[in-house]
Amino acid sequence: MIIIEKPELQKDGKEVLLSTRFQVEGEHNILWYRFSSKFEDYLVTESLDASLVGLLFLGLKTGNDIKLNGPVSARLLYTINHYLIKALCLANNEFKEIKIIADSLNHEDMNLGSTAGTGFSCGVDSFATYFSHSGEHSPFDIKYLTFFNVGSHGDFGGEKARKVYQKRLRSVNTFAEKAGKKVISIDSNLSEILKLNFQKTNTYRSASCILNLQKLFKNYYYASSFPLDQFNLNSVDTSYYDLLNLSMLSTESINFFSSDIYWTRIDKTSFISQFPETYDFLDVCTNLRDEFNSKNCSTCDKCMRTALTLELLGKLHLYKNVFDLDIYQNNKNRYIGKVLGTKKENIFNKDLLRLLLKKRKISLIHYGYYSSYKYKKLKKRIRKVIKKNPNKD
Ligand SMILES: [Zn+2]
Repeated sequence: MIIIEKPELQKDGKEVLLSTRFQVEGEHNILWYRFSSKFEDYLVTESLDASLVGLLFLGLKTGNDIKLNGPVSARLLYTINHYLIKALCLANNEFKEIKIIADSLNHEDMNLGSTAGTGFSCGVDSFATYFSHSGEHSPFDIKYLTFFNVGSHGDFGGEKARKVYQKRLRSVNTFAEKAGKKVISIDSNLSEILKLNFQKTNTYRSASCILNLQKLFKNYYYASSFPLDQFNLNSVDTSYYDLLNLSMLSTESINFFSSDIYWTRIDKTSFISQFPETYDFLDVCTNLRDEFNSKNCSTCDKCMRTALTLELLGKLHLYKNVFDLDIYQNNKNRYIGKVLGTKKENIFNKDLLRLLLKKRKISLIHYGYYSSYKYKKLKKRIRKVIKKNPNKD
């Protein structure tokens, strides 16, 4: 059994710590989230929604039912018990079907802020959500950008991930200042507790942070990663079925939306490239190393995909301050070979190949790189099989 207690607020200088004591099979631990004290009045201590969603995967992973020693949103308890646990077990056969037991229910709408927010990383998806909601009225207008340390800077957290989080946060803060928006940054030890692959749990980690702020946000936009026609429950990445996740994680106080779900990544890249604000701030890089001259390493798959898309759209020159264009050009043909080799399993590359063909940018050299990519992959697979069966002739 996992037992979760009511959260408590502690002041710590200019910050506040929202801590929740919990135990797993008698072993005690604390889940915490750290906020700026400016948002203290909006933090929820009356309901256990945030810690339930944050620790749900701990129950699914260990097969422990979860008992809540305090109120929880009546809607959330119903949706988790009747839909989400079953869906997550269908999506991941390592998870065990568990039950959530609450000692009381919260039927109240706790929202005071009547506003909206969205997660913001300076990436393509978050810029698309930000600009596609400009001009909305209360309570759908984005007043706040959020930024979390719950796994996207390193699956299992720790000091290395925290340093990357702080570095990326500086860039988000600079953009927000120019855009006249406020940033709510949330540090947490959730990753250290879950010790799970980020992609398997990512939507829930972010939703858990935001459920602490239900008094502020009436609406929250979680940028979609995949278009709606790619909805797929048989995927380890929770983003493939965010339409289900987010509607089921909404409560009496807050609505979650999977934003821009009808757009492909190419549509989004094309859309954001209309806005000069993105030219100096676009940050798509997944490379956590520190030694690059530009904001983006211009070699990792995500950098290459974005830069290639921008080039095909005739917009790459506008992003010369965030990509190293020489490094990109040196790697481009090799990357197009990889796009050809992964078009079946990677939806982004499938769309990108369609654009490459439309613009007539595929040539013989790319098929050479394609063959070399396939050969390397086959060699890797053979080595893996030999390693698994070392004694077989
Ligand atoms: Zn990169």
